[in-house]
Amino acid sequence: MNTTLQDLGISSGDVILEISYLIAAVLFVFGLKLMSHPESAKKGNLWAGGGMVLAMITTLFLHRDADGSTIGMTNVVVIVIAIAVGSVLGAIIARRIKMTAMPQLVSFFNATGGAASALVALMEYSNPENTSALVTLLGLIIGTIAFSGSMIAYGKLDGKVGDIFAGWVKYFNVALLLIIAALTTYMLVVDLDPGMQTLLSYILLALALVYGVMFVMPIGGADMPVVISLLNALTGIAAAMAGFIYHNQAMILGGIFVGSAGAILTLLMTKAMNRSLLNVIVGAFGGGGAGIDKEHGSIKEITLSDAAVLLSYSQNVVIVPGYGLAVAQAQYACNDLVKLLEGKGVEVKFAIHPVAGRMPGHMNVLLAEADVPYTKLVEMDDINPDMPNTDVTIVIGANDVVNPAALDDPSSPIYGMPIINAHESKNIIVMKRGMGKGYAGIENFLFFNNKTRMLFGNAKDSIQALVSEIKEL
Ligand code: NDP
Repeated sequence: MNTTLQDLGISSGDVILEISYLIAAVLFVFGLKLMSHPESAKKGNLWAGGGMVLAMITTLFLHRDADGSTIGMTNVVVIVIAIAVGSVLGAIIARRIKMTAMPQLVSFFNATGGAASALVALMEYSNPENTSALVTLLGLIIGTIAFSGSMIAYGKLDGKVGDIFAGWVKYFNVALLLIIAALTTYMLVVDLDPGMQTLLSYILLALALVYGVMFVMPIGGADMPVVISLLNALTGIAAAMAGFIYHNQAMILGGIFVGSAGAILTLLMTKAMNRSLLNVIVGAFGGGGAGIDKEHGSIKEITLSDAAVLLSYSQNVVIVPGYGLAVAQAQYACNDLVKLLEGKGVEVKFAIHPVAGRMPGHMNVLLAEADVPYTKLVEMDDINPDMPNTDVTIVIGANDVVNPAALDDPSSPIYGMPIINAHESKNIIVMKRGMGKGYAGIENFLFFNNKTRMLFGNAKDSIQALVSEIKEL
């Protein structure tokens, strides 16, 4: 006897729903692949977003609970209104935001993802039909930490929140983690009445909120990128847990993709920054004062015409872009400078530090926007061996990522972080507006180096003036 899908209680809607999830998964993977290169990243975003829209629409109209009930028209209307409000708000914020405030915005959006997953877990924990208490509680904890941690990261990137460096913080954080673990275990093994369940879930939420704040609070100096990618991973994991709660494959997959991409990035960042992941989790690194107060020495400036001559008669030039390049929006002018020098037979490369700027890949995205060929961007580890043979290194709006204190000053908060070895090149030109410090808030002795000459001014204006000067030679 042939068994049909109907006999198994599977409707054609269920089949279409599963197929749509499969298509969404393929679109996520395809989108992620495209996102791995700046030129195709925009398309990748659209493909992955398309996959998510497909999964959302089919879920709304085809999802059925175990008892066969659908979402129901009233709920569909409420959900569509919520999506519309969120989409409009998101679009307005994203359109209005300045390019330089993008890192803060990414942190803010990450916080909302964590909050949404935590709320799902909070609602479902006391639902008697929920069969996965462990996953629900983990989703609640991780989503809440991702939310409060990302909000603090947002405040720090926006300059609204300072760092706290007290030594007790790491002990406090370890104690808090232990309390959270103990309470979670208690909630899992003891048969609680509904009132107690609700009370304890709110206490757990509060503890996780405090932990999120306290583990990001002490992270300062040059260590924020590691935390930002970790928070990203946490949001993905929390979303995957929410997907487990609802047995929704598309949500699980989306969460796992974000979580694993964030986790890989975190590991790459910890390696790039020479830090341990355990220290990140207890908030035990970063911060610090201004490094040791060495004798400064003196600053030497360079005139535009001297810089033009020096660059034009060099054989090879390395440009080290940093956060100031993004602030000045000098990427197009920078590309003009590269083309001009190459026209004169000078070999020009960009040295890309993994944490330059304010978000992972910031410099790659910025330079891709100005059509700088990707082949010109050389990673830190690959360019450093060439630095002693480099005629001129131009540091444009970078500071911490070329600070030799990371190599030779054990008291510096950035000690141990690998840097672009600009100080090893034969000549160094530094373009910045004044003697402002970088994100880590510490002095940079590269600026006082005998081989360094400063070209003060807004990076875009300085580069444009330099381009005109070189053209006149
Ligand atoms: P820094 O923040 O160290 O330095 C930027 C420099 O740019 C400043 O010293 C400033 O000096 C100069 N500047 C600012 N505006 C302009 C302008 N319009 N024209 C010219 N210069 C300008 O940047 P780096 O890229 O070297 O280092 C990145 C730092 O940010 C690291 O400490 C990193 O850990 C941290 N970070 C990175 C994240 C990431 O994911 N990449 C995330 C969070 C933090 P002046 O005011 O004198 O002009």
